Amino acid sequence: MKLKKIEHIGIAVSNLEEAIKYWEEVMGLKCYNIEEVVDQKVKTAFFKVGDVKIELLEATSTESSIASFIEKKGQGVHHIAFAVDNTNQALEEVEKAGVKLIDKQARQGAESLKIGFLHPKSTMGILTELCSE
Ligand code: ZN
Repeated sequence: MKLKKIEHIGIAVSNLEEAIKYWEEVMGLKCYNIEEVVDQKVKTAFFKVGDVKIELLEATSTESSIASFIEKKGQGVHHIAFAVDNTNQALEEVEKAGVKLIDKQARQGAESLKIGFLHPKSTMGILTELCSE
């Protein structure tokens, strides 16, 4: 598998509005997209830092994985997303290498990316997302 770049860093926040304010007013970035991903029960906000994006994630339901993440670990870095050429193919390759997957098949993520997650138990604790256009 070939990772092309870090596509984005996902950050779990409990209040999206407050977090956007911080990233805009203190860090000087501009939020260019806010999007709800219904099947993941999250609302996302995107910023660009050079080539890398920051994705803020707020739970829209207590059943959201972001809600349980914050309950267990508090706010903070949630996942790192790497760009690949073909998400399904990359998932297949890492699975063959013995990595446990959260998503066996790519699904639709924010910003119309095809995304798939690797299980942090297989990645030394880093929730890893692979994504392609
Ligand atoms: Zn992500």
